[in-house]
Amino acid sequence: MKQLTCIICPRGCQLTIDDNLNVTGNFCKRGQIYALEELTNPSRTLTTTIRVRNRKDVLIPVRTNKKVPKDKLFDIMQIINKTTVLAPCHINDVAIKNVLNLGVDIIFTSEIK
Ligand code: SF4
Repeated sequence: MKQLTCIICPRGCQLTIDDNLNVTGNFCKRGQIYALEELTNPSRTLTTTIRVRNRKDVLIPVRTNKKVPKDKLFDIMQIINKTTVLAPCHINDVAIKNVLNLGVDIIFTSEIK
């Protein structure tokens, strides 16, 4: 048996998953989906910032355009921390293409002229 807090919405239901993968404690279906994904393939959308090299002391917010496996977050952050971009930057433009060959891009979530 495993217990999790659902992080999909602020209600934060306390989920219990038994050995047969039956989920209880969820107020809605999304909690069941979250619990089963969390046990079989935990993944997250990574949000962070990247340095802009032609603007002094400026960082631009970015995120993955899809969820990535939780165990890849550290490796992705290492790549992002070594990366700088050139302004102008536009929302949803790709900052890093196909990071770690995961089929996921790092995209801007803000704008710098
Ligand atoms: S189970 Fe549904 S209601 Fe409960 S926290 Fe998750 S998303 Fe929100």
